Amino acid sequence: MNGMRVGCIGLGTMGAPMAENLLKAGFDLTVYNRTLSKAERLVSQGAFLAHSPAELAGKSDVVFVNVSDSADVIRVVLGEGGVIEGAHSGMILVDNSTIKPAASRMIYETMREKGVSCLDAPVSGGEIGAINGTLTIMVGGDEDALERVRPMLEAIGSKITYIGGPGCGQIAKAANQIMVAAQMVAEAELLIFAQKAGADSQRVIEAIKSGAAQCWTLDNKPQRLFAGNRAPGFKSSLQAKDLNIVMDTVKEFGMSLPGTAINTQLFNGMVANGKGDQDNSAVIHMIELLNNEYLGES
Ligand code: NAP
Repeated sequence: MNGMRVGCIGLGTMGAPMAENLLKAGFDLTVYNRTLSKAERLVSQGAFLAHSPAELAGKSDVVFVNVSDSADVIRVVLGEGGVIEGAHSGMILVDNSTIKPAASRMIYETMREKGVSCLDAPVSGGEIGAINGTLTIMVGGDEDALERVRPMLEAIGSKITYIGGPGCGQIAKAANQIMVAAQMVAEAELLIFAQKAGADSQRVIEAIKSGAAQCWTLDNKPQRLFAGNRAPGFKSSLQAKDLNIVMDTVKEFGMSLPGTAINTQLFNGMVANGKGDQDNSAVIHMIELLNNEYLGES
């Protein structure tokens, strides 16, 4: 489609279904994943396999990156065997990972010297949104590069918003994470509050979820918690990472966000307690400990 060759680096919870949607939309696709076995499914569906980000970049006009943290994006893009070694003038790099705005700006400047346009394009909508191709995509970088990759972004997302120059997509995503974390902690607090004070927390959720407290979290997470399901979804370690990105930015600009500072500590506590691989809604664990009250156990 469009004669554009697409490459996808990082085939985890988000990257694999996004790559699959690009393949289904008819793009010629090359994939790379550090753990080779995760690429097998896409290769069996018709994707080509690259053995390094550099090899993938050499075979692609547009390179999507979907790895964990700032250091990981820097490694696969600028490190040994990275995208930069296979980059060619006119190539576009689309980074869907959630990383520090400052890291996105640094990558943008470095790749520009190679004639590569970079877009920071973090996403929201979770694994479900990635599978259904309905992600919200927040884009920073050059607007003309966005227009060239728009057909690809439309294969993976349903809302694409240009925010501004390099790093601005990441600022929007960090802002989003302030709200998401606040919802997770508020949900956890209200569930334990209601139960310990003597009400049926399932009935409380039924009563309040279409009132003024209505939100994505109350629509999607309580039933999982009532069923004892704390599997990700969105890992608490990634939520902690995103909140630490917010707090780094808070420090950089001399801001004060007291609520987010507390929520950051709660998610750091999840990681310190070995719960980083659990869903972000599992932050209720921290509220359970503080109150010696456990959901569904009284
Ligand atoms: P994940 O399931 O843990 O997958 C991470 C991917 O990154 C894997 O393919 C992993 O390779 C690769 N990776 C990590 N470090 C690497 C390195 N140093 N070198 C090469 N490859 C590396 O994570 P995810 O949930 O897909 O999240 C990916 C990004 O999307 C994160 O920035 C996250 O914050 C963001 N995000 C996630 C969600 C969500 O609901 N999960 C929602 C919105 C945004 P291996 O397979 O070899 O480990």
